[in-house]
Amino acid sequence: MAVAQRKTDGSLLKRDYASLMADYGDLNSFDLLDVMINKEFRDNIALVSSFGAESIVLLDMVAQVNPAVPVIFLNTRKLFGETIRYRDQVAEQLGLSNIITVNPDAENIAAEDKNGLLWTRDTDACCDLRKVRPLALAMNEYGAWITGRKRFQTTDRGNIPLIEQDGSKIKINPLAHWNQEELDRIIENKGLPKHPLIAQGYPSIGCMPCTIRVEAGQDRRMGRWSGQNKTECGIHIGENI
Ligand code: SF4
Repeated sequence: MAVAQRKTDGSLLKRDYASLMADYGDLNSFDLLDVMINKEFRDNIALVSSFGAESIVLLDMVAQVNPAVPVIFLNTRKLFGETIRYRDQVAEQLGLSNIITVNPDAENIAAEDKNGLLWTRDTDACCDLRKVRPLALAMNEYGAWITGRKRFQTTDRGNIPLIEQDGSKIKINPLAHWNQEELDRIIENKGLPKHPLIAQGYPSIGCMPCTIRVEAGQDRRMGRWSGQNKTECGIHIGENI
């Protein structure tokens, strides 16, 4: 599937992920971001960030490439207060000037999760209500999006490419091939601000009801949807956007 992208003269050009991979698949993460944000999808791309435990690496790169790029932040209304404050701190510190906070639709919440406890009965439905549908609506504005997914995180993410097709959109995964040690090292070496909950034992941070502490040395993703056969909220499952 081809995606419309803006050329420097403002007209639109159709590109598909295979031709983008052929042209840019060998670039390092920073250069890939640069060409996607400032050339191929100029004014037509957004970073989707949870401002979680490792988000800072990609946020820092994007801020260097173009601090005005839209950064979409899904406020599910179930987040930790620390995450909201961390978002604001990071935006200020990195100079990110276009943070777009997306909320779930109030009418849908009233109809489907009036008492706010849907997550106790059906986490897939809750994620769909509070994440998948609001993000799909927000992404109508863009032809491409940038994610911070890494292959090492889960089995399902084990083969994610740098550039892929997701429904009608192109998805860029500039950190797909990074490992945990590389992420930790760059955060330390650059002195990047850390999410405050990391120091409290939360190495992977999502919504408050669905995030628990993890013992040192355990798989970091064990802290998400603990005890359930669920590893993704749904925004990265094809055709949602
Ligand atoms: S992570 Fe939990 S609280 Fe957040 S949207 Fe999904 S099910 Fe709901």
